[in-house]
Amino acid sequence: MLLDLLNENVKTSYEISSVFFTLIIIIFMRMKTWEKGKETTRSFRMMAYAGLGWNLVEIINPVLLRSDLDGPMWEAFKTLVDGSQFTFGHVTLLAFVFYLEHYTDYKHKRWMRQLNIAILLFSTFAVATNPVTHWVFEYLGEDAGYIKGPLYLVAGYLPAMMFGVYAMYLYIFNFHHFIMREKVALISSILMVFAGSLIQILLNGQLKITALFASYGLFILYLALETSDYLNLVSTRSELEDARETANSANYAKSVFIASMSHEIRTPMNAILGINEMILKESKEEKTLAYAKDMKTSGEILLTIINDVLDISKMEAGKLEIQESKYHFSELIDELTLETQVAAKEKRLDFEVALDESLPDLLEGDKSHLKQVFHNLLDNAVKYTPRGRIIFDVKGEREGEYVHLVGKVEDTGVGIKPDDLEHLFQNFHRVDLERNRSIEGTGLGLSLSKKILTLMGGRISVVSQYDIGSIFTVEITQRVLSDQSILEYRKEVGEYNPLTRTIESVAGKRFLVVDDNEMNLKVANAFLVTSGAQIVLEQDSVKAFELIKKERFDLIFLDDLMPRLNGSAILTRVRRASSGVNKDTPFIVMTANSSGGDEAKYIELGFDGYIAKPIKEDKLVEVVNHFVG
Ligand code: ADP
Repeated sequence: MLLDLLNENVKTSYEISSVFFTLIIIIFMRMKTWEKGKETTRSFRMMAYAGLGWNLVEIINPVLLRSDLDGPMWEAFKTLVDGSQFTFGHVTLLAFVFYLEHYTDYKHKRWMRQLNIAILLFSTFAVATNPVTHWVFEYLGEDAGYIKGPLYLVAGYLPAMMFGVYAMYLYIFNFHHFIMREKVALISSILMVFAGSLIQILLNGQLKITALFASYGLFILYLALETSDYLNLVSTRSELEDARETANSANYAKSVFIASMSHEIRTPMNAILGINEMILKESKEEKTLAYAKDMKTSGEILLTIINDVLDISKMEAGKLEIQESKYHFSELIDELTLETQVAAKEKRLDFEVALDESLPDLLEGDKSHLKQVFHNLLDNAVKYTPRGRIIFDVKGEREGEYVHLVGKVEDTGVGIKPDDLEHLFQNFHRVDLERNRSIEGTGLGLSLSKKILTLMGGRISVVSQYDIGSIFTVEITQRVLSDQSILEYRKEVGEYNPLTRTIESVAGKRFLVVDDNEMNLKVANAFLVTSGAQIVLEQDSVKAFELIKKERFDLIFLDDLMPRLNGSAILTRVRRASSGVNKDTPFIVMTANSSGGDEAKYIELGFDGYIAKPIKEDKLVEVVNHFVG
């Protein structure tokens, strides 16, 4: 029977081979990818079955047409089968369009899908009713051939053209979405269908070859994109992407949690350290003083740890920002010197500063982060040096409008073994634990310093000899804002030494302190009250704002994070109202948000000064002297 058929009509062999072709794909598909239920697989399945139907109809049709089956019912059936070639072709093409849509994010996808389905339904309806209406075509026998009906083009060819053009559009306008493998596979299958229809048209429809070419296209898609290996790869890729997103958001949540936790911890720490400071000042009892001193040391260590953890988590969340603003380089060095002097003195270490005073003084950069880096190094030098001396050497070289600074911290301390040097800058990595066990530390300082410097475009390096000492070197380039040298600036403003200053008498002045935490108010009051000024304390930020509108103060200290109205909002409102009794009053922000960079942010907002919590008495004295004294 099959052989007879082939003998009768040689052309049918194309269709038969095409049927086998498609069947093979369907068998493979059932074996491997059926259970995947992936979106593309569903469209692919639809394409394969419609393609198979198309091929089968193309084989059956000539046989049916040539058969002797007569009568109106048979005629209608023959016309229906003949017309169904259009429908199968359209479904195959539309399935391809759906397939392609999965790879794109065309925003009118849903709308186009509905339009395309409507077109398909219309053409299917026209084909289904054609045996009665003959609006699509009428077959008059082998000699007379076909008569085209009024809907021949609209229902027979227009849908295919629409789907084809839309497929090309999707492909071209979403080209950048595809990976190379998808690009090649999709365009090859599109071209296959076009080539098939072109040949069929050129041969005047004598050879029905489109369906065969369509199954070649199907084959290409199957081999390139629908094999289970490839599908696994794609789903693994998207799972990885999901996992990465989940991990990122978990990491982000962690950072937010740590940031708010350390802020929450810092607030009570302020009270503890502040009250301890009061004990140190007021107590005469030796034992109490000794306890309070220990408490101060431990409290300060705890605070450093909190700050470092906060900074590391900020850094990991990509949120640590370098805030550049102008600053006096000599003041940075002086502040560091003073802090180190105190610590070195306690350990009976010599401390020398060798600063090249010809360096320019007014620079642009992130002073607080730079200070943090040098502070870590100087702090380590003191910590890891049992006896001897520490030298802080600062030199630099002017390069046009920039200065290349080189700061060295040299100690005669325990030194670092060559093997340990490479681990020095890793998070939480402490080296030579046996010997350094008694020294407090987290192993965060150096890794943080390195990260900060990298963000600022600087470098850190170390040379060390075990048991002899270490030299840490920091290199950083800063913009020079004025040619005045450090020496000239120092001559102009005099010796800088906030520690030796005490609050000059400011009797008769009025200070306002606003903080929602009662303990913090107590601490600030205890530090300020000795100055002789009148101190007004306010816990409610809204009431404080009313007070600021009505009464004049010489200095206003504002906490930032407060319920209802925060410090920044109060400042902005006061500054916006250009008049008002306190429009020229200096505003100082006091915040537990004290990570490097925040200071610059608050100053930019309009605050005149910044005090990090826990409040330190010397910082407060400095601020009062500066603004009121
Ligand atoms: P921490 O000092 O908190 O442990 P760091 O990150 O600042 O953490 O330093 C990491 C390690 O490097 C320290 O634990 C210490 O072993 C070593 N180290 C740092 N500075 C010095 C130094 N000046 N001399 C000797 N060892 C040092």
